[in-house]
Amino acid sequence: MADSPVELPSRLAILPFRNKVLLPGAIVRIRCTNPSSVKLVEQELWQKEEKGLIGVLPVRDSEAGAVGSLLSPGVGSDSGEGSSKAGGSPGETSKQDTKNGKEPIHWHSKGVAARALHLSRGVEKPSGRVTYIVVLEGLCRFSVQELSTRGSYHVARVSRLDMTKTELEQAEQDPDLIALSRQFKATAMELISVLEQKQKTVSRTKVLLDTVPVYRLADIFVASFEISFEEQLSMLDSVDLKVRLSKATELVDRHLQSILVAEKITQKVEGQLSKSQKEFLLRQQMRAIKEELGDNDDDEDDVVALERKMQTAGMPANIWKHAQRELRRLRKMQPQQPGYSSSRAYLELLADLPWQKVSEERELDLRAAKESLDRDHYGLTKVKQRIIEYLAVRKLKPDARGPVLCFVGPPGVGKTSLASSIAKALNRKFIRISLGGVKDEADIRGHRRTYIGSMPGRLIDGLKRVSVSNPVMLLDEIDKTGSDVRGDPASALLEVLDPEQNKTFNDHYLNVPFDLSKVIFVATANRMQPIPPPLLDRMEVIELPGYTPEEKLRIAMKHLIPRVLEQHGLSSAYLQIPEAMVRLIIERYTREAGVRNLERNLASLARAAAVKVAEQANTLRLGKEIQPITTTLLDSRLADGGEVEMEVIPMGHDISNTYENPSPMIVDEAMLEKVLGPPRFDDGEAADRVASPGVSVGLVWTSFGGEVQFVEATAMAGKGDLHLTGQLGDVIKESAQLALTWVRARAADLNLSPTSDINLLESRDIHIHFPAGAVPKDGPSAGVTLVTSLVSLFSNRKVRADTAMTGEMTLRGLVLPVGGVKDKVLAAHRYGIKRVILPERNLKDLTEVPSPILSGMEILLVKRIEEVLGHAFEDGCPLRSRSKL
Ligand code: ADP
Repeated sequence: MADSPVELPSRLAILPFRNKVLLPGAIVRIRCTNPSSVKLVEQELWQKEEKGLIGVLPVRDSEAGAVGSLLSPGVGSDSGEGSSKAGGSPGETSKQDTKNGKEPIHWHSKGVAARALHLSRGVEKPSGRVTYIVVLEGLCRFSVQELSTRGSYHVARVSRLDMTKTELEQAEQDPDLIALSRQFKATAMELISVLEQKQKTVSRTKVLLDTVPVYRLADIFVASFEISFEEQLSMLDSVDLKVRLSKATELVDRHLQSILVAEKITQKVEGQLSKSQKEFLLRQQMRAIKEELGDNDDDEDDVVALERKMQTAGMPANIWKHAQRELRRLRKMQPQQPGYSSSRAYLELLADLPWQKVSEERELDLRAAKESLDRDHYGLTKVKQRIIEYLAVRKLKPDARGPVLCFVGPPGVGKTSLASSIAKALNRKFIRISLGGVKDEADIRGHRRTYIGSMPGRLIDGLKRVSVSNPVMLLDEIDKTGSDVRGDPASALLEVLDPEQNKTFNDHYLNVPFDLSKVIFVATANRMQPIPPPLLDRMEVIELPGYTPEEKLRIAMKHLIPRVLEQHGLSSAYLQIPEAMVRLIIERYTREAGVRNLERNLASLARAAAVKVAEQANTLRLGKEIQPITTTLLDSRLADGGEVEMEVIPMGHDISNTYENPSPMIVDEAMLEKVLGPPRFDDGEAADRVASPGVSVGLVWTSFGGEVQFVEATAMAGKGDLHLTGQLGDVIKESAQLALTWVRARAADLNLSPTSDINLLESRDIHIHFPAGAVPKDGPSAGVTLVTSLVSLFSNRKVRADTAMTGEMTLRGLVLPVGGVKDKVLAAHRYGIKRVILPERNLKDLTEVPSPILSGMEILLVKRIEEVLGHAFEDGCPLRSRSKL
């Protein structure tokens, strides 16, 4: 706070505070939205190089009792418009009519000159209205001589009220004043010591007591707690130091007393309340809350309310009859009786189900639907086209029993979000039902009510939650349902998806048929193969293979980054993730077909940035035009202004966190490593792993998309057994058997043994392992990889690290085509593998692989296993030249 007297100019622009007073020494943060205040701030503070002072003048609402010194109307001019001469003497009430004849403004005749400590400008969306946040510090009192207008705001000719330095020095000698000061300080000290027990921040205030002159302290203290407008005004009017000090002492003392009394009461009440009283009080409160919420605890009312709800639920007649029967039973029961709550829960369900309620389907606009799909999803042209076709058919024939769409693909490729886009296009509600891990038929169809804790199935529960009977329902992970002793969920699903049967879907819990025919079902699955054929037959499969790195990059830049930033309350003004860094994340931190981990990693960066931004906001940043704040902030009581809106700055609160972070954080490699850790993947992995004979590189297809799968074989002393590990399914085990048989049969031709009658397994066992031992694996496509691994082992030659392979083999050595070629090639690409051996008959599948990826790779098409071996080893297949295979 400036202790030397402030240079007060003769004219000040006037910012009116409605029913509020700014006292010298107080600091307020105000938000200016009113056009004339905005104009004032703009012209007097924002645009001026050197920030001057403005005057803050209290104005009174017309209905508030007009006591105190107010300005009288008068003439005078600054800009030729209406103005008023100062009345200024205490006790006078007067008003100034605005030129358009609105409510008269009651100006107070004394105000406080203030300077801006901080300014920030904002633009409101969507109106484009400019607003300012201004932090003002009150400096000294003035009285208004004449008020006039300058453009849309007021200016005043003012005169100084505070004493000059010499006057002050003289006054300080006055024994009365000395006594008053002492008294004030003692009271203030007492208040501080009471507050100190509650808040830590007061210690800063304590320092003030010793450093700031007492006449200023009076204002600062009074400004820091809640007193009425009238009292604030009279404080403002207390120009005389003695009056001011005794007024302040009185107010501080009153504040102190009120704190002490409040404390005493709390202690007393706490002490007196016995346990039962407490309970009673709590119950009263609970009842009040319930009443407020509209759920009265009264059981009788409850049943009446339930009945009313049931009446409005629109149940079909026969179900209504059934429900009433149940309701009659409920009425006869006591709430404590067993069965009461289950019966009620059942009726609640009946009342909540959307028997008739539907989302109004609007006329489908195909172009808009296409645009919305394009807006939300990058690429996926064919998939989007198929969705549009599906929607077009629905448009032409709304009742058409079209097939159920089933999106099949690895996680994070956009299956769920496509399904929700369909709902959006149809203007229907969207509900996702997760079927992953559902093994019990009752999960779909509900438990009979005879069980304790029985519940409806997930479909009925879902319908209750969306509360319309025609939502788009996503049956998520339909391939993950399995069947066991508890029934077969797939067969229940079959009924759900069958348009003939789902009109009267029977949930065991509900026990009355529910019409599911209005629901649009969409399913997702990671793989097609586990879906039972009858179920698959009802669905139209749309495959979403994984994305190429380039596609991922585009998705990240266009969709993921904006979304992630928004979710973390950031914008590109705070955090920028350059394309090159996204590329690095894709290459080094994610090796997935979809974009889920990519999104997760981006979210980690956003979180780290959010922390930084929040931290930075806590350290004060001063712009060039801002004077440093030297004042310790008091708990200034600030509230709604008239012309201005205000916010309270709590004691010790740093005002800087309302201000924008001027320079965005740009993610670089160092930040990547710091936030995401060391890179998880590198291109050298394949080379390291095939460093010894017996290891080959295969390509497999898992529910996470394509994957590179190493196969390791080793030999040891034994009795000729084959050991297989790595959670293998029957098919893959048989493939291993087959591979071993083929290699043994061709041992001589392959130069593995001198003659064909020598047993390769003579006194040794073979162990084949598929690493990532915890992940289950199955399928025939590892055939060629197994053979390569065994040949490598027996011939003691390393397999090329840059070559991966896939293909089923027959006993005679033919290579048969396999599925998931695009995914597998993409996986190889992700691993940095340059050559891929594929069955010749998979040639057609290569059209799906994006050409930039294909062009960077050598695709080797083979018909026979010998060709595979020829490509897999550095110097070709170790075949004996004489052999003709
Ligand atoms: P899934 O259901 O296939 O596992 P999601 O639909 O949950 O995947 O997608 C994961 C995230 O990736 C979502 O935030 C989704 O919006 C985003 N995403 C996936 N594919 C795309 C795409 N092509 N364009 C834009 N965002 C996508």
